Order: sequence, then structure tokens, then C-alpha cells
Amino acid sequence: MKEKFQELKKRVSEVYAINSASAVLSWDQQVNMPPGGAGARAASLSALEELSHAKFTDPGNGRLIAELYDWAQGLGEDSFEAGYLRALKRDHEKAVKLPPELVGEFSRAVSEAVNAWTKAREDSDFKAFAPHLRKVLDLNLRKAEALGYKNSPYDALLDLYEPGATRAELEPVLGKLAGGLKPVIKKIAARAGSVSNALVLGDFDESAQMDLVNDIVQKLGYDFSRGRQDRSAHPFTTDFSVDDVRITTRTQKDYLPMAIFGSAHECGHALYGQGTPKEFDFTPLAGGASQGMHESQSRFWENIVARSLPFCRWLLPLLRERFPGRFDKASPELLYSAVNRSAPSMIRVEADEVTYNLHILLRFEMEIALLEGKLKVQDAPELWNSKMKDFFGIAPKNSAEGILQDIHWAYGMIGYFPTYTIGNLISAQLAAGLDKDRPGWRELPAKGDFAPILSWLRARVHVHGRKYLPGRLLEKEFGEGVKVEPFLDYIKAKYSALYGFKP
Ligand code: MG
Repeated sequence: MKEKFQELKKRVSEVYAINSASAVLSWDQQVNMPPGGAGARAASLSALEELSHAKFTDPGNGRLIAELYDWAQGLGEDSFEAGYLRALKRDHEKAVKLPPELVGEFSRAVSEAVNAWTKAREDSDFKAFAPHLRKVLDLNLRKAEALGYKNSPYDALLDLYEPGATRAELEPVLGKLAGGLKPVIKKIAARAGSVSNALVLGDFDESAQMDLVNDIVQKLGYDFSRGRQDRSAHPFTTDFSVDDVRITTRTQKDYLPMAIFGSAHECGHALYGQGTPKEFDFTPLAGGASQGMHESQSRFWENIVARSLPFCRWLLPLLRERFPGRFDKASPELLYSAVNRSAPSMIRVEADEVTYNLHILLRFEMEIALLEGKLKVQDAPELWNSKMKDFFGIAPKNSAEGILQDIHWAYGMIGYFPTYTIGNLISAQLAAGLDKDRPGWRELPAKGDFAPILSWLRARVHVHGRKYLPGRLLEKEFGEGVKVEPFLDYIKAKYSALYGFKP
């Protein structure tokens, strides 16, 4: 069996090597490529994707997986072999269940949808995007049918991003979260003028911003000998291997938090990738347990660590150094309140941590209704606007700042949005875990001492890679599933103190 396992590993590692090359091309596309390169790049990427898919779905792999699965599980749930076979079997089954014609049709439809969306958003013209959204929904339904599900087609799609999660489990979680957040949002709105972000608005040299965020991520623990940070239109993290995990960030001349918290966010993703055990490289065990677990890492560093008062104590002298004269009179407390101002806003990616999850709930409810045919595509903008009014008391002026703002649906991704909220919830559970294991950790950022925090995350989360489903990982390490209370407690404590109301 050992030799057969080696044979399987060798075959599969070639697939990951090809995927790694694709990731380099995609990274280059978003960071360096001149616009003229688009056509050639698309051809290279699709050729690599076909090659990778063909190698991965080769029936020989299926036979080896079937032969080895029980043997591997016999070595114990925690063994490398057992985890390897579990993760590979799941991925392989999904890949072979999807007919190549559907995959091809999906990818063509999506590239047309993305082009149409880009233009439609510029013109704020939902009607121009509507036929593409219909096509994307139809293809997602066909995908769900091909993958199979018990209760809702949404489950099959959700499972692609958050393995094991179901709509039935998520609905009450999101409902409870919204119920807890709405009163907080109201109380903040009643005191909207009491917190200002003027300190972080103004004119900030963008190369100084890059120097600053390079310092910050290095201090957080990002290893520049196994990564690099560049600028891109939309920040992202990409793993070519355990030893090459790259991040990008975005600077905005008149708004300093964009770069700082964007970098802290991507750094959180990258620390997860760089913390993957070396032996997981080019195996199905590399990467995060799920999108939600990945997002828990990024949100933990971005919000719980970097938006804390101790972090602001450490950050302020760095800001004084990089932007001479600009922060001379500021106190850490003023900086802390400036980077934590909360206010209802139209755009999800610019939302603060209090309002953010309601943006997700809105999308979650809408995509289920659309997928199940309970909501007609042409009626979607109206429902979007009325939900915005209901959740935040504001309504978009046009579809560009409403239903057309996100690229996800154009990309064909239905069922992805909830992973952001799952990540936010888990990030607060991690903080609660640290409170138990390393009391006093919350003050460490004031000294720029992040290593004890990172080493805890390494031991409890990163070391497992994709060995367990996210639900199992949480249960093994923390004895619980995804919970709403730690996050709500965190939000209430932090914002009642900032805005001066009773929690
Ligand atoms: Mg993220």
C-alpha cells in the first residue's frame, strides 16, 4: 500500500505543480501584465487548466483513491495519509462529477459575464448585466444538480467554498447575528458624530504608505524570504507553494486605512499559507481548511489585532516617522477611534466590522431567492434597495453602488458570500481561545510583539492545513462549532466603549 500511496502522491503532485504555474500567471496578470497581454494570457491559463483537469480526473487516480482510502483511514484520523486521502477524495469526486461540457460552458459564460459586469457597473446599467446573471444562475443550478445535494441546491454550491456547511445550519446563525447587530447599529447611528476619522484622511504619500505596510506585515510575522508584497487594483493573497506566498495591497492617497488594514488582512491570509507544514506542499493538504477558516485568519489580524488600542500605541510612532508632522499631536486613543469609526455604507468592501455582516446577510438571502426562482432577476435591484433601507436606513442611488458592486456573481460564485461572515465569527472564537490559553496576549501588540500570537495560531490552526473539514477542526481544537456569541460580545464591548452607550 505504501508504494501505491507514493505513486498516487507523485501523480497528484504534478497536478499541483501545474496549478502553481497557473497561479503565477494569474498573479502576474493582476500585478505586472500590460493590457495587451490579456489574450495570450487567457489562452495560456485555459490550456493549463485543461491539462490540470485532465491529469487530476484521470481514472487511474480514482482507482488508487478507492484502493487506498480505507487503508489510510486505518492509520488514524490524524495521520498524514488519512487526511491526504480524505481531502483528495472530496476534491476528486467533485472534479469527476462535473461534466467537461458544463465546465467549459461555465468558464465561457463567466468570462462574458465579467466583461458585461465591468461595463454594466461603469454605466450603472443592471439591465445589461441581467441576462448574464440569469445564465450564471442557471449554470450554478446545473452544477448543483451534477454535484448532488440532500436538501437545497444552495448546499452543493456552499460546499465548494465551505465544506460541510449547509443552508439550514447557516440561516439561524446569520439570523441570530443580525438580531444582535441591528440594535448596536442603531445605537451607533444615534451617536454618529461622536467618533471622527479625520485623523486618517488627508494627503499621504503613496510610496511612504508602501514602506509602512511592508514594515507592518514583516513585524506581524510575514516572511519576505518566502513572499513579496505588491500593489494591485484589488488586494489578494496567492500561494504558489508553502515557500512562495504573495500578497498585494492597495494604497489610497487620501485615506490611510485602506493600505494599512488591507495589508494586515492579506497578511493574515498569507501567514496561514506560510504556516502550512512543508510536507503538505503540492498535496491536497496545502491551503486552508475552507474559505471561512482562511477569512478568520485575515479578519483576526485586520480587526481584532490591528484595530485594537494596543496596536495603535505601537503604530503611532511608525506613522510619525513615515508622515512627518502629520501625527505629532495625535494620541493612540484618537488613532484608535479614527480607524474604528462605524457608519452604514453602500459598499460592502468599505464597510466597518459592525455593519459588514449585514451586507453579507443581504447577499445570502438574495442569492438563495434567485437560485430557487423565488426572485426574478429583473426584480432583484428593487429587493436589494429595499433590504438596504431595512438594514441600514439608506438606499443606493444607482445599481453601481447597489447590486452591481461585487464581482462574485459575474465570476459565477453563488454561495461564496457567507464564508466572509463565517470568518468573522471564527476570528472572535480564536480571540476567545487565546484569552484562555495566553492571558495578556491582547497587550502584546503595544510592544510590537506578535510572535506569541502567531505561534498559537500556527499550533492550533495552521499546522492542520486542509487535513480536517472546518467543522471538525473547530471541534477538535476548540470543542465547538461556529458560534455567534464571541463575535457579538466583542462588537458590543468594543463599540459601546467607543461610542459611549450601554452594551
Ligand atoms: Mg480575505
